[in-house]
Amino acid sequence: MIINDKYCSWINDLNSRTDIKTLQTNEYCEWLVIGAGYTGLSAARKLGNLYQNQKIILVDAQLAGEGSSSRNSGYLVDTTLNDGFISNKELDNYKKKTDIYDLGINVVRKFINEHKVDCDWNECGKYFASSKIEDEKTLRNFSNILSKLGFENNLLRNNELLKRLGTSFYNIGLHTKGGILLHPAKLARAMIDVLPDNVFLKENSSLLNWNKKNDVIICNFKNGQIKSKKIIFATNGFLKSLGIKSNYNFPITLTASMTRSLTDEEFKSIGSPKEWGVLPVRPMGATIRMTKDRKILIRNTAEVHNPFKMSKTNLEKRSISQRIGIKKRFPQLPDDIIQSTWSGIVSRTRNSSQIFEKIDKNVFAAGCYNGSGIGVGTLFGEQIALKASNENTKEIKIIEARNKPTWLPPQPFLNFGIKTRLIYERLRAKSEI
Ligand SMILES: Cc1cc2nc3c(=O)[nH]c(=O)nc-3n(C[C@H](O)[C@H](O)[C@H](O)COP(=O)(O)OP(=O)(O)OC[C@H]3O[C@@H](n4cnc5c(N)ncnc54)[C@H](O)[C@@H]3O)c2cc1C
Repeated sequence: MIINDKYCSWINDLNSRTDIKTLQTNEYCEWLVIGAGYTGLSAARKLGNLYQNQKIILVDAQLAGEGSSSRNSGYLVDTTLNDGFISNKELDNYKKKTDIYDLGINVVRKFINEHKVDCDWNECGKYFASSKIEDEKTLRNFSNILSKLGFENNLLRNNELLKRLGTSFYNIGLHTKGGILLHPAKLARAMIDVLPDNVFLKENSSLLNWNKKNDVIICNFKNGQIKSKKIIFATNGFLKSLGIKSNYNFPITLTASMTRSLTDEEFKSIGSPKEWGVLPVRPMGATIRMTKDRKILIRNTAEVHNPFKMSKTNLEKRSISQRIGIKKRFPQLPDDIIQSTWSGIVSRTRNSSQIFEKIDKNVFAAGCYNGSGIGVGTLFGEQIALKASNENTKEIKIIEARNKPTWLPPQPFLNFGIKTRLIYERLRAKSEI
C-alpha cells in the first residue's frame, strides 16, 4: 500500500486540495489511466482534449501528483552525464537520448506557457561537479561530446565554483547552459488543476489487480471495479509490482532532504549565490540545489528498499547522512537546519532505456525515466495517449528510435545484482556523498 505523508517540503509549500474523490462504485469508461504523476496526468489531459465526448478515468493509489512527481529535485534536464561516449555509434545513441530530453523540455515549456503556470521556472543551466580533481578527465570527455552535439558548456575550477555556488567543496565542474530548475510539486499541481472536465480523477484508490476478458479490461480496487476499453499504465516505479514489463524494470527508492530558508546572515556567509543546481560526476554522489527561496536540497541515497516507501525512522537515518553532506559543503551553517526528509520511488531499466509500448491489444505503458521524468514523463504521457489513439507523430518516431530496455534476471539474482552495483557505486562516490 502507498500512503501519503507530510514529509516533503515541496508538497508542504502548496495549499491542501479539498475535492478528493475515491472510487466507491463500479464504473465503465472508454479510457482508464493508472497513476497520476506527470505521465498519467499528461496522458489523461491529452485524452480529455482529444475525446471530449468520452469518459476518461484517472486513478491514483495516493493523492494525485504527490508521488515522485512532487518529490524530485526539480531538474528539467537537457543532458545527463555518461561516461565513455567515444565512438560515433555511442555518440549517435547519446544524441537520441538528448533529442528526447529536448522534446521533454519543449512539452513542459508549452504546458506552462499555455496554462500560465508559476513553477519557479529558471533557465539557469546546471553544474556537474566533483571534489576529486581526477574527475576532470570524465568532465573533459563529457564536454567534448556536448560540444560535438552543440550544447554550450564551460569547464570551471574551484575558485569560480566557489563564487557561483558558495562552497569550496568542488574542485572541478562543468556548467551546461541548457536545463531548467523548477518547483516539481507546483508543476504537478498545475497538471491536476487543468484536467479537462471529462477526466474523472479517483484518488486514494489503489489498483489491486487487473485482467482482460473479451477485449474489456477489468480493474479491481478495494471499493469497486472499473471496466474500460483501453488502459494506460503510468505507475513508473510501480510498473513491476503490477506485472507490467516486469522482466525489464525495477524500482529504486531515493531519499532527499531540504533545509529551511537560510537567514540573511547565513545566506551572506556563503556569498549570497544565485539559484543553482549541481549533479554529481560519480553516479551515487549527491545532487544538491540552492532553491529560489534560499533552501538547500540534497539527495544522496538510492536503494533497493522494502517497502518502497520509507518509514519515519528509516528517513531519520538517511537524514543524518544528508546533514553531513550539507555540512561538508557549508561548514559555516548550523547543524539543525534540515526541515524535511522524504523518499520517492523511481524506475530503472538495465540499459537506461525507457518503456513506451503497447504491451497487449488496448493496453499501453510508459515509464522508467530515472532522473529525467519531469520532461520525459510529460512527453511520454502525451505521446502514449496518441499512440493508444493509433496516431503516429514525429515525437513517437523519435521516442521509438531508442534502444528498447534489455531483459533482467529473475529474483533473487536481480536484487543481489542491483545491491552489489549500488554498494560499488556508493564506495566509488564516498567523498561526493
Ligand atoms: C528524490 C528524487 C529526485 C528526483 N530528481 C529528479 C530530477 O531532478 N529531475 C527529473 O526529471 N526527475 C527526477 N526524479 C524522477 C522523477 O520524479 C520521476 O521520473 C517522475 O516523477 C516520473 O513520473 P511518473 O508520473 O511516471 O511517475 P510517479 O510520479 O511515480 O507517479 C506514478 C503514480 O502511480 C501511482 N500508483 C502506483 N501504483 C499504483 C496502483 N497500484 N494503483 C493506482 N496508482 C498507483 C503512484 O501513487 C504515483 O502517484 C527524481 C525522483 C526522486 C524520487
